[in-house]
Amino acid sequence: MTFNSLDLDPRILKAIEDKGYTTPSPIQAKAIPAVLTGSDVMAAAQTGTGKTAGFTLPLLHKLAKGERARDKQVRTLILTPTRELAAQVAESVITYGKHLSLSSHVVFGGVSAGPQIRKLKFGADILIATPGRLLDLMNQGALKFDKLEVLILDEADRMLDMGFIRDIKKIIAKMPKKRQNLMFSATFSDDIRKLAKDLINNPIEISVSPRNTTAETVKQWIYPVDKGRKPDALVELMKTNDWKQVLVFSRTKHGANKLATLLDTKGISSAAIHGNKSQGARTRALSGFKSGNVRVLVATDIAARGIDIHQLPQVINFDLPEVAEDYVHRIGRTGRAGSNGQAISLVAAEDLYYLVSIEKLTKKLLERKTLPGFEPKTPLPEAPLGTRVPRPKKEGRGGGGGGGNRSGQSSRRASSERGNSSSQGNRPPQKRGKTGFKPRTRKPS
Ligand code: AMP
Repeated sequence: MTFNSLDLDPRILKAIEDKGYTTPSPIQAKAIPAVLTGSDVMAAAQTGTGKTAGFTLPLLHKLAKGERARDKQVRTLILTPTRELAAQVAESVITYGKHLSLSSHVVFGGVSAGPQIRKLKFGADILIATPGRLLDLMNQGALKFDKLEVLILDEADRMLDMGFIRDIKKIIAKMPKKRQNLMFSATFSDDIRKLAKDLINNPIEISVSPRNTTAETVKQWIYPVDKGRKPDALVELMKTNDWKQVLVFSRTKHGANKLATLLDTKGISSAAIHGNKSQGARTRALSGFKSGNVRVLVATDIAARGIDIHQLPQVINFDLPEVAEDYVHRIGRTGRAGSNGQAISLVAAEDLYYLVSIEKLTKKLLERKTLPGFEPKTPLPEAPLGTRVPRPKKEGRGGGGGGGNRSGQSSRRASSERGNSSSQGNRPPQKRGKTGFKPRTRKPS
């Protein structure tokens, strides 16, 4: 299949050609015709599959035909969970729409609302937003949805994980009933299906990769190492492999800072990116990493969500994620759009529960390799698929072992990222009302 066979506006095809794409990716081949029918669409697609163009291209085609937005009107709303993803989607909209005369704006928290309000005064054919800031702007009367044609929820699973459900419902309540809804999500969990039931009418369902599988272009393995030796093991790996661009995942913000500082002192230029960093610091870290000035970007899951670096070769899990699905998202940062990548995890005996959870989810055992000189004193137990391992107790959380479902775990972690971040405006973190989780008193690390 070629892009030309997709019946898109020639000006969009020209932009695709300028970008150098020759063939639609599988999600694009399915999503573009589905969106063009005008039906609601629910698509399961991992990051890195080309899903952004999958919804942006047919959207631009549709909007190019209609009347332009005026006076605070918004014709399309694209909701994303994070500022980084919002910025990247906005960039894609500009790239693919550069030969059209559509207006697009992006709004997210952590930066002043004034300029955003001023831009919206003249309307937006496409508005890309994070839910918190959008709600603030709506409450200030900065925009109108009376002419809204399309609503897109990007990375819907992550928005639920981050506790945005109430914000999303408030936003949707202000929209006209007649509109096209598109929902993109890495996984279709039961929670996502529940949300979709209230939101989406008779959707065309699309899936390009089986649920919770990891991309085949990514080579994955683990190095069992003692917990205390992980920093040295990472330095060793950086030096012996002479890696130039590595995304390292840390479970906590504090851990991310500590690791970035340590790597810097070892002569490996590094930056940390997480919810406590100002928007300016996050943007600087990301652009330094993209340009090659920063070799290692140490990120927490939420901050890293949506980071799209072309052909990122290397992902390291310094800590395994608490939520197994995050492993799939993490390694989706590499091996994107057909290129090859490597995802290596440093796994201590204490991490066995998380390792087993990942292997259960992805239904395959991760290859174990030895990092010479770092053979663990406390060996990582062998654990065939299906092995039951008790959840480790969390330090400082009043012995949180065993309790909590997956989404609860994730919401708690996510809200801790949101709580200290200004990414969603200056509102306090939401109480976890219905889910039954009490707001945490301990400052999350
Ligand atoms: P996404 O999954 O939307 O984050 O896209 C992942 C990466 O794939 C981005 O860097 C895109 O620029 C790139 N990409 C998207 N569509 C194509 C295509 N048809 N051919 C080659 N690269 C693409």
